[in-house]
Amino acid sequence: MDQCIFCKIASGALQADRVYEDDEVLAFRDIAPLAPTHVLVIPKRHIDTLNDLDELSSPLVGRMFLAAREVALRDGISERGYRTVMNCNAEAGQVIFHIHLHVIGGRPMGWPPG
Ligand code: 5GP
Ligand code: ZN
Repeated sequence: MDQCIFCKIASGALQADRVYEDDEVLAFRDIAPLAPTHVLVIPKRHIDTLNDLDELSSPLVGRMFLAAREVALRDGISERGYRTVMNCNAEAGQVIFHIHLHVIGGRPMGWPPG
């Protein structure tokens, strides 16, 4: 996945403001934050979309949520509240085709999304 921006961030070829990392996942601040906390959690291995998840890769998603939980704790928004979102394909607004969990918080948010 030579052209994938998030693979490049995972490998260190592209700079990012990293906030959490373990052997399988990486979290870094979104370049265009929508809220005081806006972090992206990615698996280090490339998966295009949620549609490409399978039995074998599914535990990664649990690891991504554990990382999201840790990020919220570190940013002090665990108790106030935060949102975790994974967009899948065009109508949901996915623009980077390497799965990522948005962790958004630090301000009140409306529901449903537009
Ligand atoms: P999507 O719309 O695919 O769910 O979200 C992609 C997110 O990646 C967007 O919020 C966008 O601001 C963020 N993004 C795109 N390119 C970069 C980058 O090079 N670095 C960082 N940190 N975030 C990026
Ligand atoms: Zn990738």
